[in-house]
Amino acid sequence: MQFVDLKSQYLRLETEIRAAIDKVLDHGQYIMGPEVAAFEQDMQTFSGVPYAIGVSSGTDALKMVLMAKGIGPGDAVIVPAFTFVATAEVVKILGATPIFCDVDARSFNIDTDCLQILIEKVHNQTDLHLKGIMPVDLFGLPANYEAILEIAKAHDLFVLGDAAQSFGGAINEKRVGALCDVSATSFFPAKPLGCYGDGGAVFTHDKNLYDIIKSIQFHGKGENQYDNVRIGITGRLDTLQAAILRCKIKVLGDEIGSRQSVADRYTQALSEHVITPMHYSGYQSAWAQYTIRTDKRDAIKAHLQSLGIPTAIYYPCPLHEQPAYMSPYNDLMPLPIAKQLSKEVLSLPMHPYLSPQQQQDISSAIVDALAL
Ligand SMILES: *Cc1c(COP(=O)(O)O)cnc(C)c1O
Repeated sequence: MQFVDLKSQYLRLETEIRAAIDKVLDHGQYIMGPEVAAFEQDMQTFSGVPYAIGVSSGTDALKMVLMAKGIGPGDAVIVPAFTFVATAEVVKILGATPIFCDVDARSFNIDTDCLQILIEKVHNQTDLHLKGIMPVDLFGLPANYEAILEIAKAHDLFVLGDAAQSFGGAINEKRVGALCDVSATSFFPAKPLGCYGDGGAVFTHDKNLYDIIKSIQFHGKGENQYDNVRIGITGRLDTLQAAILRCKIKVLGDEIGSRQSVADRYTQALSEHVITPMHYSGYQSAWAQYTIRTDKRDAIKAHLQSLGIPTAIYYPCPLHEQPAYMSPYNDLMPLPIAKQLSKEVLSLPMHPYLSPQQQQDISSAIVDALAL
């Protein structure tokens, strides 16, 4: 059994993907070939966002937005303490300070009550210039953007959505990418929409921000690539990856439906035994992960492993306890939920091609492990 089964999806799309790759090999425009612009169009249509930019990775997507916002030393950006390291890493790379906020124990996403208190504390107890908030749509579930945007507006902060795990998700029919002014996603192979290497995208409603990021992703180009008007990076999406993603985005909606069915079956089998993900009315998760909580986490993981069932712990350590992220600012507020989750979470095999029989085996093994 596999944790994420990329092969089944490949076999479903094999003819199309091979033809798309062949086409790129024929025209040979490996950098910024026509597939890149065509895929950007596909993303705009899918998400309903006016501007989508294909970029080199999810991390670079986040980093380029912060560069475009002029984030640097002396600035602070609030990020959840329970997320993949890249969310905080990009803030540090630019010399700014990530300020960690606790998360909600059921949604795994940023806790908006903590967020409000934390903003006051940064203003009153530090000399940092608080510039923005980076909510994360953890495990595919969109963050509570309605509340976050209201708080951000009251304090004149930008909101950069880390949608690396949630492309394909939605809130009340509004798709991820459109949920805040600017968001970033990842096409790392194991994400809900993955390519065959590294890739990512930025989505925005802001034409000016779009123009700046287009420049940053190509060494800060102006009129052309030998006209350098700002500091940039190599931040482009490869043509080959765009060609592959064009095939895959066509089945993304269908695959999200399958992921939802997988999630529903897990919840039905497991909700009386462990804490299963909560349903939030109007929210569609992209189900990047199906993550349970239990104080018997390590015993369950070991039992499943002995049966050849792979699981993963996302994430075993909250960011404020990571050696590279130690900081006196981590003491502004206690972060008990992030800490507790790191000890209790377990992500189960999740992909659109998981069979009901496989799921039954996984669920039975979990129930058995609890009785040991
Ligand atoms: C995967 C991920 C990223 C980084 O994406 P890459 O494409 O691997 O650089 C950033 N944030 C979160 C929450 C992620 O899960």
